[in-house]
Amino acid sequence: SNIVAIVGRPNVGKSTLYNRLTETRKAIVDDFSGVTRDRHYGMAEWINKPFTVIDTGGYVANSEDVFEAAIREQVVIAIEEASVILFMVDVTTGITDLDDEIAALLRRGNKPVLVVVNKVDNTMLQSDATIFYSLGLGEIYNISSMSGSGTGELLDEVVKHFEDTELEENTLPKYAIVGRPNVGKSSIINALIGQQRNIVTPIAGTTRDSIHIRYNQYGHDFMLIDTAGLRKKTKVKENIEFYSVMRTIKALEEADVVILMIDAVEGLESQDINIFHLAEKNKKGIVIVVNKWDLIEKNSKTVKVFEDQIKQKIAPFTDVPIVFTSVTEKQRVLKVIETANKVYENRSRKISTSKLNDAMLPIIESFPPPSIKGKYVKIKYATQINGTSPMFAFFCNLPQYVKEPYYRFIENKLRENFEFSGAPIQVWFRQK
Ligand code: GDP
Repeated sequence: SNIVAIVGRPNVGKSTLYNRLTETRKAIVDDFSGVTRDRHYGMAEWINKPFTVIDTGGYVANSEDVFEAAIREQVVIAIEEASVILFMVDVTTGITDLDDEIAALLRRGNKPVLVVVNKVDNTMLQSDATIFYSLGLGEIYNISSMSGSGTGELLDEVVKHFEDTELEENTLPKYAIVGRPNVGKSSIINALIGQQRNIVTPIAGTTRDSIHIRYNQYGHDFMLIDTAGLRKKTKVKENIEFYSVMRTIKALEEADVVILMIDAVEGLESQDINIFHLAEKNKKGIVIVVNKWDLIEKNSKTVKVFEDQIKQKIAPFTDVPIVFTSVTEKQRVLKVIETANKVYENRSRKISTSKLNDAMLPIIESFPPPSIKGKYVKIKYATQINGTSPMFAFFCNLPQYVKEPYYRFIENKLRENFEFSGAPIQVWFRQK
């Protein structure tokens, strides 16, 4: 989606503007004290145009020694990532040296920059604001992010710079990385997207909101739905868990493929199984990732033992790929993506009616549904029904006489004959 980055030195009011832009979402998190303070990504919308806001400055607060370098870095990130950059300055201080430095960096970048003069709370200050034209970045936008005045005009200008990426991105595969806290979700996203994308510094307590990240490298092109973040800072453990569950559900609903990460040491726990069943029920593609594989003492049977244990817990839908990773040792991280691609493909697979019947009719003939009270079910043919996940209708005379075990038998045979690994399948028996 389009990204709007707010840059500027500390105390010019970046967070206030950030909060104002992401207002609608903020309402949700306000109840969870400590959560909003240091998040950096938020969703916003202006006249039906959704966008992501990055407050690149949150993490430099009160750490004088790192901030010059950090500000330089935030500007570089903004130039790289943003569709539009809001360069925020403060009318009450005028132009400082740091403002000049930032302006110089921004002039060298090739992204649209809007100079946002903050704290213009009255008309007298409006004439003071004109000094900021001398930054050499063009038009200035006077606002008072405290009262909100001027933000409407600013946003009208901001959305003019948006590219029409929405349409394209909406058609890309969406993979959600979900799992309990600390399984390694942030780590794998960092490993995939690279450090510069992730605005998490060693300064304690930095977290992010869930965001959509486009991964467009090495011939891949898809959206990652990142649910990591929002942790460590708060003392209200239940609230955080509640919020993280809500976010997982939302991410899952949006995704085509759910990448369920678990911790190899802890194994598949009940919360993981709940997520698994939720994904299954919603007919989402599923990949299970067993991370921290480096912490497990292994022999030649360990993988098999793990797989069997997992499959026992997720049954009956066990045709699900399992990838064993160590993100910290960089083991099989790309395999996760390749597997998700494969599952996406399997979930979208279309089988022609002739191929389907060539494979399935002989099987049905050899193993017909058991007769009930002398009544025989005669299956005439099958066809795949159009949809986002695989659905098959088998036409027969007496669909009500086909019982659950036969459904399962047919599903298994479909899986044996065609590749549907990781994709839930629906089978129906219908009257012709
Ligand atoms: P998240 O809460 O799911 O986003 O988890 P994080 O990515 O923050 O990871 C939690 C902790 O597990 C961090 O200390 C990571 O360094 C560590 N970690 C992540 N992946 C691995 C791994 O493959 N092996 C080991 N040993 N530690 C890992």
